[in-house]
Amino acid sequence: MTKYENYKKNVLEASLWLSQQGYFGSHRGSGGNVSVRINETVMAITPSSAKYQELLAEDICVVGFDLSVIEENNKLKPSVEAGMHSIIYRNRPDVNAIVHTHQIYGSVFGLINTPIPALFDEVAFSLGQMVEIVPYALSGSPDLVNNVAGKLSNNANAYILQNHGILALGKNLDKAVLNAELLEKIAHIYYMALSTGKHIDTLPESIVEVVKIVRDNEVQQAMGKK
Ligand SMILES: [Zn+2]
Repeated sequence: MTKYENYKKNVLEASLWLSQQGYFGSHRGSGGNVSVRINETVMAITPSSAKYQELLAEDICVVGFDLSVIEENNKLKPSVEAGMHSIIYRNRPDVNAIVHTHQIYGSVFGLINTPIPALFDEVAFSLGQMVEIVPYALSGSPDLVNNVAGKLSNNANAYILQNHGILALGKNLDKAVLNAELLEKIAHIYYMALSTGKHIDTLPESIVEVVKIVRDNEVQQAMGKK
């Protein structure tokens, strides 16, 4: 047993669940990636171009936030999106796990370039006051990393990547997966509500303000601890 084994097992378990539920957009593909923070400079992340059903815990990569190899993995390279995960851990001390998926309804909003406002208080307290769109850049490119970095200061736990997919963040892996699920739920409902052509009520401004305060406090507290 290596010292990172539990992190790797947790990343694999979350990836398999997301894959089985269709969150990666295809059951046989290798789209999307999952990571967990190990400490202030190191993360465990799914490998690049590997089918989830064929992955073993030992295949999960352990890399530094500078993308240096921390533990040799002879078979597989870390996800091409490792830079995107790294910039989030560097900028958001409250985030200890990240899920990037190609889930269907979340991705719809990346095509119509429409952010998702606060619609249900129970979801808004988890995801933030607005699920914003990160402008398009090629998968795995430094431009995409910069575009993600440009959105993180709203302290949200979910973002939509234009013409690509979504990002869900959490203080642990369970929360990150839950936030991906909550985002898919509200994207599905918002899509159906928009398709009626009728007026849609969002949460009152006073509640959105409370959501913002709660999210900001969570980040401030995490910053104080680290
Ligand atoms: Zn992707």
